[in-house]
Amino acid sequence: MLRLRNTLTKQVEEITPLEPGHIGMYSCGPTVYRPLHVGNLRSFLLSDVIDRVLSYHGLDVRRVMNITDVGHMTDELTDEGRDRMLMAMEDEGLGTSEIAEKYTDIFYRDTDAVNIRRAAVYPKATEHIEQIKELIAKLLERGHAYSSDGTIYYDVTSFADYGKLSGQSLDAMQPGHRIEIDTRKRNHQDFTLWVAAGPRRELVFDSPWGTGYPGWHIECSAMSLHYLGERFDIHTGGVDNRFPHHEDEIAQSEGAVGHRVVQTWSHGEHLLMAQLKMAKSAGNVVTVQSLIDAGVDPLAFRYLCFTGRYRRQVHFTQDALDAAATALRRLREQVALLGVAGSAVSTDPDLRADLRDGAVAYHDRFIGAIDDDLDLPAAVTVLHETLADDSIPPTDRRSLVGSWDEILGLDLIGSDELPPELAQLVRRRDEARAARDFAGADEIRDRLRAQGVELLDSDKGTRWVRR
Ligand code: AMP
Ligand code: ZN
Repeated sequence: MLRLRNTLTKQVEEITPLEPGHIGMYSCGPTVYRPLHVGNLRSFLLSDVIDRVLSYHGLDVRRVMNITDVGHMTDELTDEGRDRMLMAMEDEGLGTSEIAEKYTDIFYRDTDAVNIRRAAVYPKATEHIEQIKELIAKLLERGHAYSSDGTIYYDVTSFADYGKLSGQSLDAMQPGHRIEIDTRKRNHQDFTLWVAAGPRRELVFDSPWGTGYPGWHIECSAMSLHYLGERFDIHTGGVDNRFPHHEDEIAQSEGAVGHRVVQTWSHGEHLLMAQLKMAKSAGNVVTVQSLIDAGVDPLAFRYLCFTGRYRRQVHFTQDALDAAATALRRLREQVALLGVAGSAVSTDPDLRADLRDGAVAYHDRFIGAIDDDLDLPAAVTVLHETLADDSIPPTDRRSLVGSWDEILGLDLIGSDELPPELAQLVRRRDEARAARDFAGADEIRDRLRAQGVELLDSDKGTRWVRR
């Protein structure tokens, strides 16, 4: 079973489902007023891999990922002091819901392109204002929140465990030149649950405390409690979410229900570019679309993420991307050259019973690496070794790769069928080569290549892979 580092306990712990056979998992999702960059995708990929590994082990995983279409972005003010959502509206001439819809669609398209499996639910903040208001009412009732000029704040001193996730102590968080003193707050670390609308007209909602909009942190508490209940197994996000976002989420959720909610908190490190965290504000972003436009397989990016462990920073460079694309292409060629057609791919644990000894040893090493706090680099090394080991029968190698790709999601096994017209071209090329018409054969190879099919000549006959 998977062992994962828990940010809360700082230990690597075996995942033990709260309800046998089932896993509830919440992952912080995108803010939808601009395209995602591949840094965001690295964090979403962590939730996908955890989901795939637990599913591989036979668990029924219910994964929920929020779509922030209000709140977070309205908390972030740009240097010019303009609200980002409103800025996007002005720049693009679209309404708030059109902007959110446009970038939500791009989010789905981009995550699909890197084989991040769809979550069970993608709740939108704007569609859960009722749950958010109920939660705020409960926090007021339980003495964790107070109102000041129509804005509701969380009182961090009311929650004894504040700081337990990030290790930030309240005393250390004193106002200084970076922390502004806000006279409406009791403590400067207090954060907003509900923000009074003031003159603003867009994305505001009625509430018992006046017109306003929710803070960012409350959205994740409200939606995770709503979809996964008062106790659930795993919560993921990027390291930057640890504080204040997840610290505040714990204060809110546990403040409201009175007990621990999340068993395992898992945080993934950042993707860097030119030594800095990839971020729109730093101007160093790459999108999935820009990869596709440059002729790069988005799954090469997925492979690149697997070259580093999730708790380490990974550097996005052209060289690293090229190397990942080459490695991925080579893996697919090796699989195609095994020349084993369409044997059904079985999954663990049935797979082990069907394999011969040498193959079993590789399988145990692969799964052992994955279960060891997601050691993907080690698992990928096992994959390369297995494919290169001619002492393992090709059928076993193919079964292993097919099974492991349930976790890796790298499309290592092409479909076994070519459309008839392309299959006919392959046959005609074989005939041309047999007749020593090499110019004709090369011409057909180029035509196939233009259709995205690459031919590989081997002593066992012609094989092909999709490009
Ligand atoms: P945002 O839309 O800014 O709230 O970010 C969505 C998710 O992407 C959050 O979980 C962040 O932690 C994560 N994220 C943002 N930038 C990076 C990065 N450069 N590398 C990895 N994760 C990131
Ligand atoms: Zn969140």
